[in-house]
Amino acid sequence: MSSEGSAAPERGDFIREIVAADLREGRHEQVVTRFPPEPNGYLHIGHAKAIALNFGIAREFGGRCHLRFDDTNPTKEEQEYVDSIQADVRWLGFDWGEHLYFASDYFEQLYEWAVELIRAGKAYVDDLSADEIREHRGTFTEPGRDSPWRERPLEESLDLFERMRKGEFPDGTRVLRARIDMASPNINLRDPVLYRIAHAAHPRTGEAWCIYPMYDFAHGQSDAIEGVTHSICTLEFEDHRPLYDWLIESLPVPSRPRQIEFARLNLTYTVLSKRVLVRLVNEGHVRGWDDPRMPTISGLRRRGFPAEGIRDFVTMIGVGKADSVVEVQMLEHAVRDVLNRTARRRFAVLRPLKLVIENYPEGLSEEMDAVNNPEDASAGSRKLPFTRELWIEREDFMEDPPKKFFRLAPGREVRLRYAYFVTCTEVVKDSGGEIVELRCTYDPATRGGDAPDGRRPKATLHWLPAEHAVPAEVRLYDHLFARPDPGADRDLFDDLSPASEEVLSGCLVERTLAEVPLGETVQFERLGYFCPDPDSMPGQLVFNRTLTLRDTWARVQAQGLDT
Ligand code: ATP
Ligand code: MG
Repeated sequence: MSSEGSAAPERGDFIREIVAADLREGRHEQVVTRFPPEPNGYLHIGHAKAIALNFGIAREFGGRCHLRFDDTNPTKEEQEYVDSIQADVRWLGFDWGEHLYFASDYFEQLYEWAVELIRAGKAYVDDLSADEIREHRGTFTEPGRDSPWRERPLEESLDLFERMRKGEFPDGTRVLRARIDMASPNINLRDPVLYRIAHAAHPRTGEAWCIYPMYDFAHGQSDAIEGVTHSICTLEFEDHRPLYDWLIESLPVPSRPRQIEFARLNLTYTVLSKRVLVRLVNEGHVRGWDDPRMPTISGLRRRGFPAEGIRDFVTMIGVGKADSVVEVQMLEHAVRDVLNRTARRRFAVLRPLKLVIENYPEGLSEEMDAVNNPEDASAGSRKLPFTRELWIEREDFMEDPPKKFFRLAPGREVRLRYAYFVTCTEVVKDSGGEIVELRCTYDPATRGGDAPDGRRPKATLHWLPAEHAVPAEVRLYDHLFARPDPGADRDLFDDLSPASEEVLSGCLVERTLAEVPLGETVQFERLGYFCPDPDSMPGQLVFNRTLTLRDTWARVQAQGLDT
Protein backbone atom coordinates (compact mmCIF):
# COMPACT_ATOMS: atom_id res chain seq x y z
CA MET A 1 0.00 0.00 0.00
CA SER A 2 1.11 3.49 -0.66
CA SER A 3 -0.86 6.68 -0.55
CA GLU A 4 1.14 8.25 -3.35
CA GLY A 5 -0.61 11.06 -5.07
CA SER A 6 -3.53 11.37 -2.73
CA ALA A 7 -3.13 14.20 -0.26
CA ALA A 8 -2.88 11.82 2.67
CA PRO A 9 -4.05 13.48 5.87
CA GLU A 10 -1.45 13.99 8.56
CA ARG A 11 -3.76 12.33 11.06
CA GLY A 12 -5.46 9.05 10.43
CA ASP A 13 -2.65 6.62 9.66
CA PHE A 14 -2.72 3.35 11.56
CA ILE A 15 -0.11 4.44 14.10
CA ARG A 16 -1.95 7.64 14.97
CA GLU A 17 -5.11 5.55 15.37
CA ILE A 18 -3.35 3.28 17.87
CA VAL A 19 -2.01 6.27 19.80
CA ALA A 20 -5.41 7.97 19.83
CA ALA A 21 -7.09 4.79 21.11
CA ASP A 22 -4.45 4.27 23.82
CA LEU A 23 -5.00 7.81 25.09
CA ARG A 24 -8.79 7.61 24.82
CA GLU A 25 -8.91 4.34 26.71
CA GLY A 26 -6.59 5.61 29.42
CA ARG A 27 -3.65 3.26 28.78
CA HIS A 28 -1.35 6.28 28.86
CA GLU A 29 -1.76 9.80 30.11
CA GLN A 30 0.77 11.21 27.71
CA VAL A 31 2.29 9.81 24.53
CA VAL A 32 6.07 9.50 24.55
CA THR A 33 7.94 8.62 21.33
CA ARG A 34 11.59 8.67 20.40
CA PHE A 35 13.77 8.93 17.33
CA PRO A 36 16.70 6.54 17.88
CA PRO A 37 19.46 7.01 15.29
CA GLU A 38 22.71 5.12 15.45
CA PRO A 39 25.48 7.74 15.11
CA ASN A 40 27.24 5.84 12.34
CA GLY A 41 26.40 8.15 9.46
CA TYR A 42 24.44 11.22 8.45
CA LEU A 43 20.65 11.25 8.42
CA HIS A 44 18.90 10.75 5.10
CA ILE A 45 15.44 11.43 3.67
CA GLY A 46 14.22 8.06 5.02
CA HIS A 47 15.09 9.21 8.51
CA ALA A 48 13.08 12.38 7.82
CA LYS A 49 10.03 10.14 7.52
CA ALA A 50 10.76 8.54 10.91
CA ILE A 51 11.54 11.93 12.47
CA ALA A 52 8.37 13.57 11.18
CA LEU A 53 6.36 10.57 12.38
CA ASN A 54 7.77 10.44 15.90
CA PHE A 55 8.01 14.18 16.54
CA GLY A 56 4.75 14.80 14.67
CA ILE A 57 2.77 12.34 16.81
CA ALA A 58 4.22 13.79 20.01
CA ARG A 59 3.29 17.31 18.89
CA GLU A 60 -0.21 16.43 17.68
CA PHE A 61 -1.15 14.47 20.80
CA GLY A 62 0.43 16.82 23.33
CA GLY A 63 3.22 14.42 24.26
CA ARG A 64 6.97 14.48 23.88
CA CYS A 65 9.57 12.95 21.61
CA HIS A 66 13.08 12.04 22.69
CA LEU A 67 16.19 12.10 20.60
CA ARG A 68 18.12 9.02 21.67
CA PHE A 69 21.42 7.98 20.19
CA ASP A 70 21.63 4.24 19.87
CA ASP A 71 25.38 4.31 20.48
CA THR A 72 26.12 0.67 21.23
CA ASN A 73 28.67 -0.05 18.49
CA PRO A 74 31.76 2.08 19.21
CA THR A 75 33.75 0.82 16.23
CA LYS A 76 31.43 2.56 13.74
CA GLU A 77 30.24 5.57 15.68
CA GLU A 78 31.65 9.08 15.77
CA GLN A 79 31.00 12.44 17.41
CA GLU A 80 30.79 14.04 13.95
CA TYR A 81 27.66 11.99 13.33
CA VAL A 82 26.17 12.85 16.73
CA ASP A 83 26.58 16.55 15.92
CA SER A 84 25.28 16.34 12.37
CA ILE A 85 22.21 14.36 13.46
CA GLN A 86 21.24 17.00 16.01
CA ALA A 87 21.75 19.81 13.51
CA ASP A 88 19.67 17.99 10.89
CA VAL A 89 16.74 17.21 13.19
CA ARG A 90 16.63 20.86 14.26
CA TRP A 91 16.89 22.08 10.70
CA LEU A 92 13.95 19.87 9.75
CA GLY A 93 11.96 21.84 12.31
CA PHE A 94 11.78 19.46 15.27
CA ASP A 95 12.89 19.87 18.84
CA TRP A 96 13.52 17.34 21.60
CA GLY A 97 13.76 20.03 24.28
CA GLU A 98 15.63 18.61 27.25
CA HIS A 99 15.06 15.03 26.13
CA LEU A 100 18.41 14.19 24.63
CA TYR A 101 19.56 10.70 25.59
CA PHE A 102 22.23 8.16 24.79
CA ALA A 103 21.86 4.41 25.13
CA SER A 104 25.40 4.51 26.56
CA ASP A 105 24.02 6.40 29.57
CA TYR A 106 22.21 3.18 30.46
CA PHE A 107 25.18 0.80 30.17
CA GLU A 108 25.40 0.24 33.94
CA GLN A 109 21.66 -0.42 34.27
CA LEU A 110 21.69 -2.70 31.23
CA TYR A 111 24.59 -4.64 32.71
CA GLU A 112 22.71 -5.12 35.98
CA TRP A 113 19.67 -6.36 34.11
CA ALA A 114 21.83 -8.79 32.17
CA VAL A 115 23.11 -10.16 35.48
CA GLU A 116 19.52 -10.56 36.65
CA LEU A 117 18.68 -12.52 33.53
CA ILE A 118 21.58 -14.88 34.25
CA ARG A 119 20.39 -15.28 37.86
CA ALA A 120 16.91 -16.10 36.61
CA GLY A 121 18.33 -18.78 34.31
CA LYS A 122 17.35 -16.69 31.29
CA ALA A 123 20.83 -15.94 29.99
CA TYR A 124 24.20 -17.69 29.79
CA VAL A 125 27.73 -17.08 28.71
CA ASP A 126 28.52 -18.98 25.54
CA ASP A 127 32.09 -19.85 24.50
CA LEU A 128 31.20 -20.68 20.91
CA SER A 129 32.69 -18.48 18.21
CA ALA A 130 30.48 -16.25 16.06
CA ASP A 131 30.71 -18.76 13.20
CA GLU A 132 29.75 -21.66 15.45
CA ILE A 133 26.80 -19.75 16.85
CA ARG A 134 25.62 -19.00 13.33
CA GLU A 135 26.01 -22.62 12.40
CA HIS A 136 24.05 -23.80 15.48
CA ARG A 137 21.25 -21.32 14.81
CA GLY A 138 19.57 -23.43 12.11
CA THR A 139 17.57 -22.03 9.22
CA PHE A 140 14.01 -21.01 8.46
CA THR A 141 13.17 -24.65 7.87
CA GLU A 142 15.44 -26.35 10.43
CA PRO A 143 15.46 -25.77 14.18
CA GLY A 144 18.65 -24.66 15.85
CA ARG A 145 20.89 -26.80 18.06
CA ASP A 146 21.75 -26.10 21.67
CA SER A 147 25.17 -24.75 22.44
CA PRO A 148 27.21 -27.10 24.65
CA TRP A 149 27.40 -24.17 27.11
CA ARG A 150 23.65 -23.65 27.33
CA GLU A 151 23.34 -25.71 30.51
CA ARG A 152 26.47 -24.38 32.20
CA PRO A 153 25.84 -23.57 35.91
CA LEU A 154 24.59 -20.03 36.36
CA GLU A 155 27.30 -19.31 38.91
CA GLU A 156 29.81 -19.99 36.15
CA SER A 157 27.99 -17.66 33.75
CA LEU A 158 27.85 -14.95 36.42
CA ASP A 159 31.57 -15.26 37.02
CA LEU A 160 32.45 -15.29 33.32
CA PHE A 161 30.19 -12.35 32.52
CA GLU A 162 31.85 -10.31 35.26
CA ARG A 163 35.26 -11.24 33.90
CA MET A 164 34.13 -10.35 30.38
CA ARG A 165 33.38 -6.89 31.73
CA LYS A 166 36.75 -6.72 33.46
CA GLY A 167 38.46 -7.26 30.14
CA GLU A 168 39.93 -10.71 30.79
CA PHE A 169 38.97 -12.12 27.38
CA PRO A 170 39.78 -11.06 23.84
CA ASP A 171 37.14 -9.96 21.34
CA GLY A 172 34.99 -12.74 19.95
CA THR A 173 35.87 -15.37 22.54
CA ARG A 174 32.62 -15.27 24.51
CA VAL A 175 29.16 -13.72 24.34
CA LEU A 176 26.18 -13.47 26.63
CA ARG A 177 23.09 -15.08 25.12
CA ALA A 178 19.44 -15.06 26.15
CA ARG A 179 18.15 -18.53 26.96
CA ILE A 180 14.86 -18.72 25.11
CA ASP A 181 14.12 -21.45 22.57
CA MET A 182 16.51 -22.96 20.02
CA ALA A 183 13.56 -24.54 18.21
CA SER A 184 11.51 -21.38 17.88
CA PRO A 185 10.18 -20.75 14.37
CA ASN A 186 11.37 -17.16 14.93
CA ILE A 187 15.15 -17.21 14.56
CA ASN A 188 15.40 -14.07 16.70
CA LEU A 189 14.27 -16.15 19.67
CA ARG A 190 16.94 -18.85 19.21
CA ASP A 191 19.04 -17.67 22.13
CA PRO A 192 19.98 -14.28 20.66
CA VAL A 193 23.27 -12.68 21.61
CA LEU A 194 22.83 -9.92 24.21
CA TYR A 195 26.42 -8.82 24.83
CA ARG A 196 29.64 -9.06 22.89
CA ILE A 197 33.23 -8.28 23.79
CA ALA A 198 34.72 -5.30 21.93
CA HIS A 199 37.92 -3.75 23.23
CA ALA A 200 37.15 -0.43 21.58
CA ALA A 201 37.05 3.08 23.01
CA HIS A 202 33.58 4.57 22.99
CA PRO A 203 33.07 8.24 22.03
CA ARG A 204 31.20 8.84 25.31
CA THR A 205 32.18 6.13 27.79
CA GLY A 206 35.80 5.98 26.71
CA GLU A 207 37.60 2.91 28.07
CA ALA A 208 35.00 2.19 30.76
CA TRP A 209 33.52 -0.76 28.88
CA CYS A 210 34.87 -3.57 26.77
CA ILE A 211 31.54 -5.36 26.48
CA TYR A 212 28.68 -3.75 24.62
CA PRO A 213 24.98 -4.62 24.49
CA MET A 214 23.47 -5.67 21.18
CA TYR A 215 20.77 -3.48 19.63
CA ASP A 216 18.02 -5.87 20.77
CA PHE A 217 19.13 -5.77 24.38
CA ALA A 218 19.67 -2.01 24.48
CA HIS A 219 16.71 -0.76 22.55
CA GLY A 220 13.57 -1.88 24.37
CA GLN A 221 15.16 -1.41 27.78
CA SER A 222 16.19 2.14 26.85
CA ASP A 223 12.59 2.77 25.75
CA ALA A 224 11.37 1.46 29.09
CA ILE A 225 13.83 3.56 31.12
CA GLU A 226 12.66 6.71 29.33
CA GLY A 227 8.96 5.89 29.66
CA VAL A 228 8.50 5.67 25.91
CA THR A 229 4.91 4.57 25.26
CA HIS A 230 5.09 3.86 21.52
CA SER A 231 8.38 2.61 20.11
CA ILE A 232 7.93 3.19 16.39
CA CYS A 233 10.39 1.50 14.06
CA THR A 234 10.65 0.14 10.54
CA LEU A 235 9.33 -3.20 9.34
CA GLU A 236 12.59 -5.12 9.50
CA PHE A 237 12.14 -5.14 13.27
CA GLU A 238 8.75 -6.84 13.14
CA ASP A 239 10.37 -10.25 13.68
CA HIS A 240 12.31 -8.81 16.61
CA ARG A 241 9.14 -7.75 18.43
CA PRO A 242 8.69 -11.10 20.26
CA LEU A 243 12.23 -10.67 21.61
CA TYR A 244 11.54 -7.04 22.49
CA ASP A 245 8.46 -8.17 24.45
CA TRP A 246 10.24 -11.15 26.03
CA LEU A 247 12.95 -8.91 27.43
CA ILE A 248 10.48 -6.31 28.71
CA GLU A 249 8.50 -9.08 30.43
CA SER A 250 11.58 -10.79 31.85
CA LEU A 251 13.07 -7.68 33.44
CA PRO A 252 11.95 -5.35 36.24
CA VAL A 253 11.75 -2.40 33.85
CA PRO A 254 9.95 0.76 34.99
CA SER A 255 7.47 0.90 32.08
CA ARG A 256 6.09 -1.19 29.23
CA PRO A 257 6.62 0.34 25.83
CA ARG A 258 4.89 -1.04 22.77
CA GLN A 259 6.74 -1.56 19.49
CA ILE A 260 4.91 -0.64 16.27
CA GLU A 261 6.42 -1.10 12.82
CA PHE A 262 5.87 0.88 9.62
CA ALA A 263 7.23 0.64 6.07
CA ARG A 264 10.52 2.38 5.44
CA LEU A 265 10.80 4.93 2.69
CA ASN A 266 12.36 3.84 -0.59
CA LEU A 267 12.85 6.29 -3.45
CA THR A 268 13.51 5.74 -7.13
CA TYR A 269 17.01 6.77 -8.39
CA THR A 270 18.12 6.79 -4.75
CA VAL A 271 19.91 4.55 -2.27
CA LEU A 272 19.09 5.02 1.41
CA SER A 273 21.40 2.47 3.00
CA LYS A 274 23.99 4.03 5.28
CA ARG A 275 26.39 1.25 4.37
CA VAL A 276 26.28 2.45 0.76
CA LEU A 277 26.26 6.16 1.63
CA VAL A 278 29.44 5.68 3.69
CA ARG A 279 31.08 4.06 0.68
CA LEU A 280 30.02 6.86 -1.68
CA VAL A 281 31.74 9.30 0.66
CA ASN A 282 34.83 7.26 1.50
CA GLU A 283 35.49 6.17 -2.08
CA GLY A 284 35.19 9.74 -3.34
CA HIS A 285 32.18 9.33 -5.61
CA VAL A 286 30.71 12.51 -4.11
CA ARG A 287 31.96 15.70 -2.46
CA GLY A 288 31.12 14.41 1.01
CA TRP A 289 28.12 13.56 3.17
CA ASP A 290 26.55 16.88 2.22
CA ASP A 291 27.14 16.57 -1.51
CA PRO A 292 24.06 18.08 -3.19
CA ARG A 293 23.40 14.73 -4.90
CA MET A 294 23.30 12.78 -1.66
CA PRO A 295 19.91 11.84 -0.19
CA THR A 296 21.18 12.98 3.19
CA ILE A 297 19.40 15.80 4.98
CA SER A 298 22.61 17.83 4.81
CA GLY A 299 22.93 17.07 1.09
CA LEU A 300 19.36 18.12 0.40
CA ARG A 301 19.96 21.28 2.42
CA ARG A 302 23.10 22.09 0.44
CA ARG A 303 21.15 21.37 -2.72
CA GLY A 304 18.66 24.08 -1.70
CA PHE A 305 15.68 21.90 -0.70
CA PRO A 306 13.72 23.78 1.98
CA ALA A 307 12.83 21.87 5.16
CA GLU A 308 9.19 22.68 4.52
CA GLY A 309 9.30 20.85 1.19
CA ILE A 310 10.76 17.76 2.85
CA ARG A 311 8.10 17.87 5.56
CA ASP A 312 5.35 18.28 2.95
CA PHE A 313 6.69 15.31 1.03
CA VAL A 314 6.69 13.12 4.11
CA THR A 315 3.09 14.13 4.79
CA MET A 316 2.10 13.38 1.19
CA ILE A 317 3.45 9.83 1.23
CA GLY A 318 1.72 8.92 4.49
CA VAL A 319 2.57 5.99 6.72
CA GLY A 320 1.78 2.43 5.76
CA LYS A 321 2.59 -1.13 6.65
CA ALA A 322 3.68 -2.48 3.25
CA ASP A 323 6.97 -1.72 1.53
CA SER A 324 6.77 0.45 -1.55
CA VAL A 325 8.97 2.62 -3.69
CA VAL A 326 8.06 6.28 -4.03
CA GLU A 327 8.91 8.23 -7.18
CA VAL A 328 11.67 10.72 -6.44
CA GLN A 329 9.77 13.17 -8.65
CA MET A 330 7.21 13.38 -5.86
CA LEU A 331 9.83 14.78 -3.50
CA GLU A 332 10.92 17.22 -6.19
CA HIS A 333 7.30 18.22 -6.74
CA ALA A 334 6.83 19.01 -3.04
CA VAL A 335 10.00 21.09 -3.08
CA ARG A 336 9.02 23.02 -6.24
CA ASP A 337 5.66 23.73 -4.67
CA VAL A 338 7.32 25.50 -1.75
CA LEU A 339 9.95 27.23 -3.88
CA ASN A 340 7.42 28.49 -6.39
CA ARG A 341 5.65 30.26 -3.54
CA THR A 342 8.71 31.52 -1.70
CA ALA A 343 11.75 31.82 -3.98
CA ARG A 344 12.81 35.28 -5.12
CA ARG A 345 13.20 35.55 -8.90
CA ARG A 346 16.54 36.60 -10.27
CA PHE A 347 18.36 36.77 -13.62
CA ALA A 348 21.39 34.66 -14.41
CA VAL A 349 23.00 33.69 -17.69
CA LEU A 350 24.68 30.29 -17.65
CA ARG A 351 26.27 30.39 -21.12
CA PRO A 352 26.61 34.07 -22.02
CA LEU A 353 26.37 35.59 -25.49
CA LYS A 354 27.00 39.31 -25.99
CA LEU A 355 24.19 41.42 -27.40
CA VAL A 356 24.83 45.03 -28.47
CA ILE A 357 21.93 47.42 -29.11
CA GLU A 358 23.23 49.69 -31.82
CA ASN A 359 20.60 52.42 -31.50
CA TYR A 360 20.80 52.56 -27.69
CA PRO A 361 22.79 55.56 -26.44
CA GLU A 362 26.33 54.82 -25.26
CA GLY A 363 26.76 55.43 -21.56
CA LEU A 364 23.03 55.41 -20.81
CA SER A 365 21.80 53.14 -18.01
CA GLU A 366 18.11 52.88 -17.20
CA GLU A 367 16.82 51.29 -14.02
CA MET A 368 14.16 48.72 -14.92
CA ASP A 369 11.67 47.47 -12.35
CA ALA A 370 11.83 43.71 -11.94
CA VAL A 371 9.29 41.81 -9.85
CA ASN A 372 10.82 39.72 -7.06
CA ASN A 373 8.10 37.11 -6.87
CA PRO A 374 4.93 37.11 -8.96
CA GLU A 375 3.42 34.66 -6.41
CA ASP A 376 3.99 37.05 -3.52
CA ALA A 377 3.21 40.75 -3.95
CA SER A 378 4.83 41.54 -0.60
CA ALA A 379 8.21 40.49 -2.01
CA GLY A 380 8.32 43.78 -3.91
CA SER A 381 10.60 44.58 -6.82
CA ARG A 382 14.19 45.50 -7.56
CA LYS A 383 15.99 47.71 -10.07
CA LEU A 384 17.91 46.16 -12.94
CA PRO A 385 20.21 48.46 -14.92
CA PHE A 386 19.61 48.23 -18.68
CA THR A 387 22.50 49.21 -20.92
CA ARG A 388 23.61 49.19 -24.54
CA GLU A 389 25.64 46.00 -24.04
CA LEU A 390 23.91 42.99 -22.56
CA TRP A 391 24.38 39.27 -22.03
CA ILE A 392 21.79 36.76 -23.11
CA GLU A 393 21.70 32.98 -22.96
CA ARG A 394 23.58 31.43 -25.86
CA GLU A 395 20.85 28.87 -26.39
CA ASP A 396 18.27 31.65 -26.79
CA PHE A 397 19.70 32.42 -30.22
CA MET A 398 19.83 30.32 -33.38
CA GLU A 399 21.19 31.53 -36.65
CA ASP A 400 19.15 29.08 -38.62
CA PRO A 401 16.18 28.29 -36.37
CA PRO A 402 14.02 25.21 -36.90
CA LYS A 403 10.26 25.65 -37.09
CA LYS A 404 9.41 25.47 -33.38
CA PHE A 405 12.21 27.73 -32.20
CA PHE A 406 10.61 31.07 -31.32
CA ARG A 407 13.48 32.77 -29.57
CA LEU A 408 15.97 35.15 -31.13
CA ALA A 409 17.15 34.68 -34.74
CA PRO A 410 18.39 36.99 -37.47
CA GLY A 411 15.72 39.55 -38.36
CA ARG A 412 13.45 38.43 -35.51
CA GLU A 413 12.06 40.52 -32.66
CA VAL A 414 11.86 39.26 -29.07
CA ARG A 415 11.01 40.84 -25.74
CA LEU A 416 13.71 41.38 -23.13
CA ARG A 417 11.89 40.87 -19.85
CA TYR A 418 11.13 44.07 -17.92
CA ALA A 419 12.83 46.08 -20.70
CA TYR A 420 12.36 46.50 -24.47
CA PHE A 421 11.73 44.61 -27.68
CA VAL A 422 14.91 44.01 -29.65
CA THR A 423 15.44 42.83 -33.22
CA CYS A 424 18.57 41.01 -34.32
CA THR A 425 20.24 42.77 -37.20
CA GLU A 426 23.64 41.13 -37.46
CA VAL A 427 25.55 38.08 -36.28
CA VAL A 428 29.25 38.64 -35.51
CA LYS A 429 31.59 35.61 -35.73
CA ASP A 430 35.21 35.05 -34.93
CA SER A 431 37.72 33.63 -37.40
CA GLY A 432 36.66 30.09 -36.45
CA GLY A 433 33.05 30.77 -37.34
CA GLU A 434 31.93 30.85 -33.72
CA ILE A 435 29.20 33.37 -32.92
CA VAL A 436 30.68 35.92 -30.52
CA GLU A 437 28.18 38.76 -30.60
CA LEU A 438 24.75 39.79 -31.79
CA ARG A 439 23.95 43.23 -33.07
CA CYS A 440 20.39 44.43 -32.47
CA THR A 441 18.14 47.45 -32.52
CA TYR A 442 15.56 48.23 -29.89
CA ASP A 443 12.19 49.94 -30.05
CA PRO A 444 12.12 52.74 -27.44
CA ALA A 445 8.30 52.68 -27.47
CA THR A 446 8.25 49.20 -25.90
CA ARG A 447 9.75 50.13 -22.55
CA GLY A 448 8.44 47.88 -19.79
CA GLY A 449 7.56 45.13 -22.25
CA ASP A 450 4.51 46.27 -24.21
CA ALA A 451 4.21 47.78 -27.67
CA PRO A 452 1.73 50.63 -28.25
CA ASP A 453 0.65 48.98 -31.50
CA GLY A 454 -0.13 45.75 -29.68
CA ARG A 455 2.43 43.52 -31.43
CA ARG A 456 3.61 40.64 -29.31
CA PRO A 457 6.88 38.81 -29.81
CA LYS A 458 6.66 35.04 -29.39
CA ALA A 459 9.49 34.90 -26.88
CA THR A 460 10.58 36.75 -23.76
CA LEU A 461 14.22 36.40 -22.78
CA HIS A 462 16.15 37.11 -19.60
CA TRP A 463 19.33 39.18 -19.85
CA LEU A 464 22.03 40.88 -17.83
CA PRO A 465 23.65 44.29 -18.24
CA ALA A 466 27.21 43.61 -19.45
CA GLU A 467 28.96 45.87 -16.98
CA HIS A 468 27.00 44.98 -13.89
CA ALA A 469 26.95 41.20 -14.20
CA VAL A 470 28.83 39.21 -11.58
CA PRO A 471 30.78 36.07 -12.55
CA ALA A 472 29.86 32.75 -10.93
CA GLU A 473 30.38 29.02 -11.11
CA VAL A 474 27.17 27.07 -11.42
CA ARG A 475 26.90 23.36 -10.60
CA LEU A 476 24.09 21.56 -12.34
CA TYR A 477 22.82 18.51 -10.47
CA ASP A 478 20.79 15.55 -11.51
CA HIS A 479 20.01 12.16 -9.95
CA LEU A 480 23.10 10.47 -8.56
CA PHE A 481 22.07 7.14 -10.04
CA ALA A 482 21.13 6.76 -13.68
CA ARG A 483 18.44 4.16 -13.14
CA PRO A 484 15.25 4.16 -11.04
CA ASP A 485 16.28 0.94 -9.28
CA PRO A 486 20.05 1.28 -8.80
CA GLY A 487 21.86 -1.99 -8.35
CA ALA A 488 18.83 -4.08 -9.35
CA ASP A 489 20.71 -6.34 -11.74
CA ARG A 490 24.33 -5.28 -11.54
CA ASP A 491 26.76 -3.60 -9.19
CA LEU A 492 25.23 -0.54 -7.61
CA PHE A 493 28.27 1.56 -8.37
CA ASP A 494 27.95 0.80 -12.08
CA ASP A 495 24.64 2.63 -11.97
CA LEU A 496 26.20 5.89 -10.78
CA SER A 497 25.25 8.54 -13.33
CA PRO A 498 28.18 10.28 -15.02
CA ALA A 499 25.83 13.22 -15.68
CA SER A 500 24.87 13.76 -12.06
CA GLU A 501 27.06 16.85 -11.77
CA GLU A 502 28.06 19.34 -14.45
CA VAL A 503 30.17 22.31 -13.41
CA LEU A 504 29.80 25.46 -15.50
CA SER A 505 32.32 28.22 -15.12
CA GLY A 506 32.03 31.63 -16.74
CA CYS A 507 28.40 32.03 -15.79
CA LEU A 508 27.07 35.49 -14.97
CA VAL A 509 24.51 36.49 -12.39
CA GLU A 510 22.60 39.57 -11.32
CA ARG A 511 24.61 41.68 -8.87
CA THR A 512 21.96 41.18 -6.15
CA LEU A 513 22.87 37.50 -6.14
CA ALA A 514 26.19 38.26 -4.50
CA GLU A 515 24.20 38.94 -1.33
CA VAL A 516 21.96 35.88 -1.20
CA PRO A 517 22.64 34.19 2.14
CA LEU A 518 23.48 30.51 2.43
CA GLY A 519 20.25 28.65 3.01
CA GLU A 520 18.16 30.73 0.63
CA THR A 521 17.06 29.28 -2.68
CA VAL A 522 16.15 31.60 -5.53
CA GLN A 523 14.72 31.08 -8.98
CA PHE A 524 16.94 31.96 -11.91
CA GLU A 525 14.17 32.94 -14.29
CA ARG A 526 13.53 30.40 -17.05
CA LEU A 527 16.38 28.18 -15.74
CA GLY A 528 15.37 26.65 -12.45
CA TYR A 529 15.92 26.97 -8.72
CA PHE A 530 19.44 27.67 -7.47
CA CYS A 531 21.13 28.34 -4.16
CA PRO A 532 24.54 29.57 -3.09
CA ASP A 533 26.95 26.77 -2.17
CA PRO A 534 29.11 26.91 0.97
CA ASP A 535 32.12 26.88 -1.39
CA SER A 536 31.13 30.45 -2.39
CA MET A 537 33.53 33.21 -1.47
CA PRO A 538 33.34 36.94 -2.04
CA GLY A 539 34.26 37.47 -5.68
CA GLN A 540 33.97 33.72 -6.37
CA LEU A 541 30.34 32.84 -6.24
CA VAL A 542 29.22 29.23 -6.55
CA PHE A 543 25.59 28.26 -7.10
CA ASN A 544 23.98 24.83 -7.08
CA ARG A 545 21.00 23.99 -9.21
CA THR A 546 18.35 22.77 -6.79
CA LEU A 547 15.89 21.71 -9.48
CA THR A 548 14.88 22.61 -12.98
CA LEU A 549 11.51 24.28 -13.40
CA ARG A 550 9.86 21.39 -15.18
CA ASP A 551 7.78 19.22 -12.91
CA THR A 552 7.40 15.69 -14.24
CA TRP A 553 5.44 14.54 -11.21
CA ALA A 554 2.80 17.24 -11.73
CA ARG A 555 2.53 16.03 -15.32
CA VAL A 556 2.14 12.42 -14.26
CA GLN A 557 -0.57 13.45 -11.82
CA ALA A 558 -2.38 15.54 -14.42
CA GLN A 559 -2.29 12.62 -16.86
CA GLY A 560 -3.66 10.35 -14.15
CA LEU A 561 -6.64 12.66 -13.75
CA ASP A 562 -7.27 12.70 -17.51
CA THR A 563 -7.56 8.96 -17.88
P1 ATP B 1 20.86 1.50 7.73
O1 ATP B 1 20.64 2.54 6.68
O2 ATP B 1 22.28 1.13 7.85
O3 ATP B 1 19.90 0.36 7.65
P2 ATP B 1 19.26 2.80 9.65
O4 ATP B 1 18.79 3.73 8.62
O5 ATP B 1 18.35 1.75 10.17
O6 ATP B 1 20.58 2.15 9.15
P3 ATP B 1 19.27 4.06 12.23
O7 ATP B 1 20.16 5.11 12.69
O8 ATP B 1 19.16 2.86 13.06
O9 ATP B 1 19.81 3.68 10.83
O10 ATP B 1 17.81 4.66 11.98
C1 ATP B 1 17.14 5.43 12.95
C2 ATP B 1 15.66 5.31 12.76
O11 ATP B 1 15.29 5.72 11.46
C3 ATP B 1 15.20 3.89 12.93
O12 ATP B 1 14.05 3.88 13.77
C4 ATP B 1 14.86 3.44 11.56
O13 ATP B 1 13.82 2.53 11.57
C5 ATP B 1 14.46 4.76 10.87
N1 ATP B 1 14.74 4.69 9.43
C6 ATP B 1 15.91 4.36 8.86
N2 ATP B 1 15.80 4.31 7.52
C7 ATP B 1 14.51 4.64 7.23
C8 ATP B 1 13.75 4.76 6.02
N3 ATP B 1 14.31 4.54 4.82
N4 ATP B 1 12.45 5.10 6.11
C9 ATP B 1 11.89 5.32 7.32
N5 ATP B 1 12.53 5.21 8.49
C10 ATP B 1 13.83 4.87 8.46
MG1 MG C 1 19.18 0.69 12.12
